Amino acid sequence: MTEPRASRRVAVIGAGFGGLAAAYDLLKNGQQVTLYEAADHVGGLASGFKEPHWEWSMEKYYHHWFASDRHMLQLIDELGWRKHVRFPRPYTVVYYRGRFYPFDSILQMALFPGLGWGIDKIRFGFVGLFLRLTNNWQALEKTTVEAWMRRWAGDRVYELMWQPLMIGKFGERYAPLVNMAWMWARIKARTTRLGTFEGGFQAFADRFSALLQKMGLNLRLSCPVERISPLQEGGLTVQSADGQAHYDQVLVTQSPSVLARLAPELPPDYLRGLLELKSMGAVVLIFSLKQPLSPQGYYWYNIPKSAGFPFLALVEHTNFVPARYFGGEHLVYCGDYLETDHEYFQLSQDQLVQRFLPALQRINPNFSPQWVNKTWLFRTLYAQPVPFVNHSRNIPPIRTPLAGLYFASMSQVYPWDRGTNFAVEIGRRAAHLMLED
Ligand SMILES: Cc1cc2nc3c(=O)[nH]c(=O)nc-3n(C[C@H](O)[C@H](O)[C@H](O)COP(=O)(O)OP(=O)(O)OC[C@H]3O[C@@H](n4cnc5c(N)ncnc54)[C@H](O)[C@@H]3O)c2cc1C
Repeated sequence: MTEPRASRRVAVIGAGFGGLAAAYDLLKNGQQVTLYEAADHVGGLASGFKEPHWEWSMEKYYHHWFASDRHMLQLIDELGWRKHVRFPRPYTVVYYRGRFYPFDSILQMALFPGLGWGIDKIRFGFVGLFLRLTNNWQALEKTTVEAWMRRWAGDRVYELMWQPLMIGKFGERYAPLVNMAWMWARIKARTTRLGTFEGGFQAFADRFSALLQKMGLNLRLSCPVERISPLQEGGLTVQSADGQAHYDQVLVTQSPSVLARLAPELPPDYLRGLLELKSMGAVVLIFSLKQPLSPQGYYWYNIPKSAGFPFLALVEHTNFVPARYFGGEHLVYCGDYLETDHEYFQLSQDQLVQRFLPALQRINPNFSPQWVNKTWLFRTLYAQPVPFVNHSRNIPPIRTPLAGLYFASMSQVYPWDRGTNFAVEIGRRAAHLMLED
């Protein structure tokens, strides 16, 4: 028999997938949990929005699960909600010399003309196979994607296949500095089957938070936390829009820079380490169209920056989730990962629409601006952590040096690329450490 755990007062800051998952395990183990969320809804970066006549919500930033997202799917199984998960198999394409080519099966990769028919294709195949088979990411984090790929796949394969992805994700400045373990993890963990929840990711988050509230969660929406301070007699004070409250333990799920701002009493070395972690922001403009954009029904377009498009990814959501769930509208994301001083963070929605419209014509020459019903713009300064060489040495542990203060964010997800799956994993791992202490 395990000892019943003492019921402590615990605060979780942030109702993203990480905070929600942590709250779940804390509540299951008898803790008194308050969840503070700055927004007026749960779900964080994976949250969605819905027009009144839509049946489903749409994520603000394009989201899907991979069939290998075992932490997410295991949680869904525990909740008994697997029947609400859908796994369509939408089409992904890559750009090459003015055309888009399907690129999500071995056969399609073999037929892709960009790599020619000789040694490059063989090297591309062998490198892919090696990365799928090896588990030794520790060796790979000692070098950059660029150095490793140039050596083993060759300059041409790197420049054609991998460099565009790296520049798209991390920009010209950081792309050459990202370590190879990050690329290994992407290749290792991703599948071509892509999943979502019936009603959208927001439907999952709402349902999960309703269950947590039934379990006793005190959910404080529209309640940003401003300060976390240690108390001399033990425990911590949380200062929020609702006033001050005392807790035995506090879990922070925001970016390292937000943690540094909320808890300035952390030791200077630790604060410095937090501020040295780098990340990219994201800007996503969504178009609702009267007609489908992709004549071929493609879902995901990978677009190299060199092709002159004003964004990195074009994602036709309604080629993943049918348009009938959105009142027959066709929904297209145009998104990019950018450094936070990029002009896209300053331009108005209208200015961005004007920049992006001509690119839609490159996807479908029949496209006309009259097809546009409506647009939405979402921007976040914290979207994609940047893992440099030997990144594992720089990751702050979940237990911070302040007694009772814990930290579980996207920046600690490694070597895996961040995602809701890993938010759930690190949120639950943090909850277990908190229960142990
Ligand atoms: C463009 C883009 C595409 C993505 N695509 C995918 C995908 O396809 N599949 C996938 O699984 N994942 C994807 N992700 C990643 C996924 O969204 C994140 O990994 C995950 O949502 C992170 O969850 P989290 O709980 O760690 O953080 P967050 O979701 O960031 O949650 C943190 C929460 O804290 C709140 N908050 C902030 N400050 C305060 C404060 N002071 N007080 C109280 N609350 C505060 C925020 O409002 C937020 O709700 C994508 C992300 C982006 C940006």
